[in-house]
Amino acid sequence: MEHEKIKIAMFDSKTNDKRFFEQVNSDGKFKIDYFEERLNFKTASLATGYEVVCIFTNDNIDKKTAEILEKNGVKFIALRCAGYNNVDLKNLPKGIRIANVPAYSPYAIAEHAIAMLLTSVRRIHKAYNRTKMFNFDLDDLVGFELHGKTVGVIGTGRIGKKFINICRGFGMNVIAYDKYPDETSKIKYVEKDELFRESDIISIHCPLTNFSKHIINRNSISKMKKGVVIINTSRGGLIDSDALLDGLKSKKIGAACLDVIEGEADVFFHDFSNHIVKDDTLIRLIALPNVIVTSHQAFLTEEALSNIADTTLKNIEEFFRMGKCKNELQR
Ligand code: NAD
Repeated sequence: MEHEKIKIAMFDSKTNDKRFFEQVNSDGKFKIDYFEERLNFKTASLATGYEVVCIFTNDNIDKKTAEILEKNGVKFIALRCAGYNNVDLKNLPKGIRIANVPAYSPYAIAEHAIAMLLTSVRRIHKAYNRTKMFNFDLDDLVGFELHGKTVGVIGTGRIGKKFINICRGFGMNVIAYDKYPDETSKIKYVEKDELFRESDIISIHCPLTNFSKHIINRNSISKMKKGVVIINTSRGGLIDSDALLDGLKSKKIGAACLDVIEGEADVFFHDFSNHIVKDDTLIRLIALPNVIVTSHQAFLTEEALSNIADTTLKNIEEFFRMGKCKNELQR
């Protein structure tokens, strides 16, 4: 008798998810159904009859959602991302296990951070718009060089380390803060306040936790150099957006490069070009000429998407075959 296929309900799925997951699942080992809806307590019943829910960064598994999933027979949550701040791990019923994709391509995120930084400091975003209008004026396009500048890296894990390597290639002076410094590395660690004081550029690569929430806030901004450039490719909640906006308006902050932003779940991954966005802080940030926003796309490379699909399906297979999985999240 043919084995029953493991049924996966994929939430918040887009064309790209389908393309890469179907490639990896070309032998049809899994039955994957793709839902555009985000997973939350209102949509959790869609997972009835599925052993697995596969979720992304803006799905939300709180206590209530997890209880509905358990009641409906879900046994495994397969995160197709690294961060898991959107899951209430403590309140996850024992009968549901969970795994993430801890590393799929740290280069994708590190390179995106650099792409945003170069765009910002060499005013490429402005030049692109100008030349498209046949405006070849150079006024206000004066940038600055990265060589010799001090970059402060918050979080020196997989992505932070790749980012640091690229920065070294530019001849930048790298300092870093990490709650758990890697003493085996050659990274120059400093206290958080020193990093805020000394950096010309600050790039955030730590996870969003209770300790790191709003690590960039009014107080930390007040300690920074005038004109500092802030890059966030990690999680929106690491920066207090209102404090950031005030810092930009007062010119204390020279520029911001944001791939993630507080409240992104309400707008990111959707086309609002014909609608009114309600988040005033986001509207004002986007309106500033020295703010570059990308909609959580740092991971969006062929290599990363392929690795994500591969590891996610391997996690599921491993769990159902052996009852455990090496990427399982402990709680
Ligand atoms: P990692 O676990 O390898 O590294 C995280 C580092 O942060 C570790 O060295 C850890 O010690 C440090 N850290 C933890 N708490 C800290 C704190 N309070 N202050 C300072 N440092 C702290 O993770 P990673 O693979 O490098 O990913 C980093 C983050 O990048 C993820 O948590 C995720 O939020 C984000 N991310 C974003 C995207 C994107 O598309 N924008 C994609 C993948 C990951």
